[in-house]
Parts: sequence; structure tokens; C-alpha cells
Amino acid sequence: MAKLYFYYSAMNAGKSTVLLQSAHNYQERGMRVLLLTASIDDRFETGQIASRIGISAEACLFDNDTDLVALIQNEINQQRLSCILIDEAQFLTKEQVYALSEIVDKQHIPVLAFGIRTDFQGELFEGSQALLAWSDKLIELKTVCHCGSKATMVIRLNEQGTPVKEGAQVEIGGNDRYLSVCRKHFKEAVRD
Ligand SMILES: [Zn+2]
Repeated sequence: MAKLYFYYSAMNAGKSTVLLQSAHNYQERGMRVLLLTASIDDRFETGQIASRIGISAEACLFDNDTDLVALIQNEINQQRLSCILIDEAQFLTKEQVYALSEIVDKQHIPVLAFGIRTDFQGELFEGSQALLAWSDKLIELKTVCHCGSKATMVIRLNEQGTPVKEGAQVEIGGNDRYLSVCRKHFKEAVRD
């Protein structure tokens, strides 16, 4: 049975690396995969999923208005798909996650979604909330805090390196940086 998988983590846990390795595993067996990433992520060339260890692949883009069922059906009409892999899945809407579950249940194509669980205020992203609720399998990708504990939270630092406590969930075009930390150090960073 095809399944909906959610690989979740804090920042810099190697999500894109795992995604690209998974895609490669399908492709070397001659299977066709579809890669998707959020158009909001402009760190790299448009339509690219790039890993920090230096590998990358072309990807289709989605935003909040993308009809994923139509996009995926169009791909299937061209040629059979063996797997769909989605980077930046925290930016999916709740409706898009539901649409992906329909692809799994009706087209029997596995969907692997990779995303950050919580934002810099410790709140779930919409896509991650829906994926935590609707996925068949939840897989945590681990990374470490500077103290050596598992990092589960993300803090946003402004240009001065000071933790940001308020603001939009997604900062577009800003110079803020993100740091993955354990819960204890997250609390210390955002405390007034
Ligand atoms: Zn820590």
C-alpha cells in the first residue's frame, strides 16, 4: 500500500539530502519521481532542491494556490510516477495536504513530504500540522543543539544576532538567520 510520509525536523537536519537520496534510490531502479518545492524558498535557483552537502535536482514549484491534484495528474498523464517527494512541506496548506492524501489513496503513489515542524515562535506550520495529523508515517530527522542535546526548535536571529520574538511566520527577502536548538535553549532565547 502506498503511504503518506512526513519527515520532520528543525532547520539544518539534512532534510534535502535525505529527500534527494530517496529520489536517487527510485531513479536508479528506473522509476520516475516528481520533485516539488515551495516557491517561497529563494535561497537557490528557482525550481531547485539543493542540499547543503552540494547535491541538487530540478523541482516543480508550488505555492498556496497550486492545484496539486491537477499538477500531479498532468504528470501521470505523461508517464507513470513511482513516487512524489516534496521539500519545504511546512508551506503546504491544509487543503493541499488533503489533496496529497487523495493521491496516495486513489492513485496509490507514495508521497514523501519533508518539512520543518515549528516556526520561530514554537508554533506548528500549517502544512506540518496537517501532515502530523494525516500522514501514515512520521519520521523525525535529528539534529543537535550547540549544547549537544537534540534540537527540536528553531530560533530566528536578526542581523545583529539577536533572537526575534515577534513577526511574520515567514520572512521573505530578509537577512534573518535560523538556528536549531533544544527546547531549553529555545525558551532561554525567547524569554523576555
Ligand atoms: Zn541546547
